[in-house]
Amino acid sequence: MRVAVVGDGLVGLSAALHLSRGGAEVVVYARPDTIGQASQVAAGMLGVMAEREWAPIDRLMVEARRYWKEFADLLTSESGIEVRIGEEGTFFVLQREEERPHLVELNRRTVRLGFSSEWFERDECEELHPLLTGQFIGALLVLEEGWVNPRRVYPALVQACEEAGVRTVSEEVVQVGVRGGHAELLLESGERVEADGALVAAGAWSGDLIEPGLAEGFSTHPVRGQYLLLRSPGHVGWPVVRSVAELAYLVPSLGADYLYLGASVEEKQWGPPEDFSAAFRVLDGMTRVMPGLAELEVTERGYGLRPATPDGLPAIGPLGEGAVYVATGHYRNGVLMGPLTGKLAAEEILGEDHGELLGPVRPARFASQGG
Ligand SMILES: Cc1cc2nc3c(=O)[nH]c(=O)nc-3n(C[C@H](O)[C@H](O)[C@H](O)COP(=O)(O)OP(=O)(O)OC[C@H]3O[C@@H](n4cnc5c(N)ncnc54)[C@H](O)[C@@H]3O)c2cc1C
Repeated sequence: MRVAVVGDGLVGLSAALHLSRGGAEVVVYARPDTIGQASQVAAGMLGVMAEREWAPIDRLMVEARRYWKEFADLLTSESGIEVRIGEEGTFFVLQREEERPHLVELNRRTVRLGFSSEWFERDECEELHPLLTGQFIGALLVLEEGWVNPRRVYPALVQACEEAGVRTVSEEVVQVGVRGGHAELLLESGERVEADGALVAAGAWSGDLIEPGLAEGFSTHPVRGQYLLLRSPGHVGWPVVRSVAELAYLVPSLGADYLYLGASVEEKQWGPPEDFSAAFRVLDGMTRVMPGLAELEVTERGYGLRPATPDGLPAIGPLGEGAVYVATGHYRNGVLMGPLTGKLAAEEILGEDHGELLGPVRPARFASQGG
């Protein structure tokens, strides 16, 4: 079976790897530049707890978290690049009394999902995270909230794909449609390519590529996220820190000398930011909790475009008669979910059915929602 994968982010490449290992002949079509790509600039949190409104897909997220261990081992063995998962947990920091209902809800969810948590008073936190010396009440540590370093994961995935025989073509795809039961790609050069199946995994750009009429009501848009890297050579063994009520977080990079501070949430912004003021506002907020952050050198500022759908949940499944499959819309959770999504999408393209797990994220739901 010949499958064309459009998009070389975490979702597209994970699918390509599994398709190839499943016996398909796979070609990945990727834009020559990676401007705006989310997968390589993400913080890398495998955060099941953070997204309250994602409750309809709790099971899928828990499975995605579980699958990461197997995926990290697979990448390490296939690429020779060690992919590690941070296992010191995540501190959810309570800054103000009025945020307590969020924390109570978060803790309930921890129990419901079978995760473990432990409350630390303010003065106890510093022992686990030396920067936690500022103004806050205390923090809930959730141990199962792991993280990875996307800057190690991505090259490992590229290498594993190469080893598995995946071919990459550096060319933008203009449209993906169906002709005579087959998938057809129109490339920027004007060439038309036919395949038995196509997977659209082009992140925030996915919706614009699909032939009109094939995916009623479905679209994607970007939610831009700005981040900063702060030089910090000695952070081994620190947990991640997240604020309970806001979107800010600080992730100790695995195997590198920086802390990753993120991230702004800017709806429908395609291009680069004019300045990085939104990222510096996140830094200001976190400095109240961790005053020592103000002393650290900013070594990089950057952004990525998170892919979002109209209802905010991912879209994973076949379109129309099934020759074209879509896997996108992972919004703030594509690092957590990308590897499992890629595996399930690949298996469905090769004939399996994961309807039980993927039911809530089928793209067909948008037609019934009237767009
Ligand atoms: C600042 C930031 C922090 C984040 N932190 C986390 C986190 O901690 N944990 C987490 O789980 N998630 C996080 N995310 C979200 C996560 O990064 C995304 O959900 C995920 O990477 C999306 O992967 P993707 O493969 O769908 O899209 P992308 O990574 O965006 O890849 C899509 C690819 O398709 C290519 N493409 C687009 N159009 C075409 C075309 N026409 N032809 C060919 N190729 C095309 C693009 O060039 C791109 O390389 C974060 C995102 C950002 C921006």
